[in-house]
This record gives sequence, structure tokens and C-alpha cells, in this order.
Amino acid sequence: LTSWAHVPQGPPDAILGVTDAFKKDQHPKKMNLGVGAYRDDKGKPCVLNAVRKAEEMILKDKLDKEYLPITGLASFTKEAALLAYGKDSEPLGEGRIAVTQSISGTGALRIGGTFLNRFYQHNKKIFVPTPTWGNHHAVFRDSGLEVGQYRYYDKLTNGLDFNGFVEDIQNAPKNSIFLLHACAHNPTGVDPTPQQWDQLSKIFKERNHFTFFDMAYQGFASGDTDRDAYAIRKFVSDGHRLCLSQSFAKNMGLYAERVGSFSIISDNPKEKAAIDSQLKILIRPMYSNPPVNGSRIASYVLSNPELKKEWLGEVKTMADRIITMRDKLKKHLVQDFESKHNWNHITDQIGMFCYTGLKPKQVERLTNDFHVYLTKDGRISIAGISSHNVKYLAEAIHEVTK
Ligand code: PMP
Repeated sequence: LTSWAHVPQGPPDAILGVTDAFKKDQHPKKMNLGVGAYRDDKGKPCVLNAVRKAEEMILKDKLDKEYLPITGLASFTKEAALLAYGKDSEPLGEGRIAVTQSISGTGALRIGGTFLNRFYQHNKKIFVPTPTWGNHHAVFRDSGLEVGQYRYYDKLTNGLDFNGFVEDIQNAPKNSIFLLHACAHNPTGVDPTPQQWDQLSKIFKERNHFTFFDMAYQGFASGDTDRDAYAIRKFVSDGHRLCLSQSFAKNMGLYAERVGSFSIISDNPKEKAAIDSQLKILIRPMYSNPPVNGSRIASYVLSNPELKKEWLGEVKTMADRIITMRDKLKKHLVQDFESKHNWNHITDQIGMFCYTGLKPKQVERLTNDFHVYLTKDGRISIAGISSHNVKYLAEAIHEVTK
């Protein structure tokens, strides 16, 4: 008889485990700052109006449920690429970007990792920032790549360790692969400035490194999808042959619909066609073809000028609410509770997350004494804060950092 007695019990997922603990807590003031999902000012998940309208249109159009092609819904992948690269993008206009739909951002990273493992001609090792979204390590390891790290976050300033970052780029063997967060770095909320991106692009080019951009938050950093695409477009216009993972989980609120895309820039349409064929060969045995519902919603929103306009407005509203919560949290800490610490990083950092700098013991106290749930690294999801509980959170943070 087969036995599975040798299968060891694995640890729970670091982020999803926080939500489990939150759910068990019955305290009326409990707060879940672990999960990276947007909440409105009442603390509720919300479906965007543009998405609701697209759903109604889809229902009315009585579309069938035939299989999609292996690389997904063409009207969606076209719009996704346009959103990321911009309408003036040269490689896009010249038909040399291969794009495929993916199972959200995670699936795109996995397709990319596997593609690089199969076809990248140099060291099959990808450097990721320290720290990075924890799943990057697992995704790339399971894609067969070796995972290395580069310096990114400076604990002393709660900002970017730009010099360390540059040194690590320069010291890595030529033709290395680097994973970059396009905007709203998770978990730190720390991004390079446009000027720093310009410098980085140049240094990466000098070293002939290959860059893999992960864009899970386009629009969430600044409220403007074009501004948030600055780094990618700069690298592209500097001639980098990069690849890109896109997710519509956050900016369109399509989390569970699993809408994303993976794209890679090639030299010419012939090369693109070969890459397309290999993406199909790679995807077919993984999941055959992607789901249609979410990509249809996204394609309706992105290709209908009125819906797109409404959606861009809603992205801005979400980003603005996050920015307001950052301001309020800092203000309560500094003005109301007269905290002696420097909290400027709360408003300097951008996107959904704030890396508070709280130590594991302080995080433990926040949870045990104040029913505030967050990951051990001190990361809080600003989207989990509302105008009703921001002062309570400030007080709690002040108490544990006194
Ligand atoms: N990359 C980063 C940096 C992320 O934060 C996330 C979401 N937490 C993802 C990728 C992928 O998310 P999803 O698969 O839900 O699109």
C-alpha cells in the first residue's frame, strides 16, 4: 500500500495566515492590515462601477463559453499591452511584443520564469530585491531558476538603498536577470524616483542585464496609469528587451477573476512569432488555456472609451484614499500622540503598503493587545485603514513604540 507518512507538515502561508487569525478574533475594533486588497472607507471590499457595467454588457451580449486560444482573449491582451507600454510604444507599433493572457500576475511570473529557464542563454539565475513579495522566491524557484538577491531597502532611512542597489547591479555577472517592481514596491512602498530609474536603465544596459518587470499595481501608486508605467516605458525607449508581468487584480479589483498578462519584447515580428509559438507550447501542458470571464470584463472596460474613463477615475479614487490614510496616520502619530519617532516614511512610501519599521515584538503586541493584524515584517496594508479606525491604529502604534 502506498504511504504518505513521509510527507512533512508544511508551514502556513505567511500572509494568508494573518487573515485566518483575524477571522477568529471577535473584538469589535479588530483590524486586518495583512491582506493586500483594497477596501473602501467603510472597510468593505468593493466592485468598481466600470466592472459592474462591463458585466451587465457581457450578460446582454449573451456570449458563448467556448475555449479561448492558448494565449487568451486577443482583445484583452492587446489592451493590456497598450495600457502598459503606451500608445506611442515603438516595439508595440512594430508588432514585436509577444503577449499572452495569464492566471493573474502570479501566473505571468510563472510563465516568464519558465520561459527564461527554457530559453535564456546566460546564467539562469534571477536577482530579486531584499525584501520582495515572498512569493517571488517560490515562483522562480519552482520555475527552475536560481534566485539571488540585491540590496533595495535601507532599514535606517526606511527608504531606498540606492547605492547598494547600484553596486549590486554592477557586481552581478554580465547578462544577469533582475526582477524589478515597476511601481508601488511590495512590501516596502519604496520606489526609485524617475531620475533614479533613468540612471538604473543606463547601468543595466551597460552590464547587459535582462530585466523582468513585475507590475501588479499600475495606477495604484500615483493614481495615474501612465505615470506608474514610467520605469517600463523608459527602459523600453532605452532599448531594453525586457519582459513584463501585469496583474489586474488590484487596479481593476478583479482579484479572484485571475486576470493578467505576460509579455516579452523581441527584435522583429518573426522573432515574436517564434516566442508566441513557444509560449503556447509552455502553457498548453500547464492549464491548456485561460479563463474567459475576467479577461472579458477587462477587455470591455479597456476598449470602451466611456468605461475606460470611468475606470481611470475609480483607480484615482482608490489611490487618493490610500494617500489620505497615509497623511492621517502620520498626523495622528505626530500631532495627537506626539510620538518622538520619525514617521515621514509613512507618507514618503507609496502604493498599497507601508513598511512601518516595527520590530517583530512590537507587531506581536499590536496583534495581542490591540487586535491589529499584520505580517511579522511590520508591513501594513494602508487599504485596510479607514477614517473610522485610523486614530485607533495611530494610538496602538504609538503605544507599542513608546
Ligand atoms: N507581484 C506582486 C509584487 C504582488 O504584490 C502581487 C499581489 N500580491 C502579485 C505579483 C500577483 O498577484 P495576483 O496573482 O493576484 O495578480
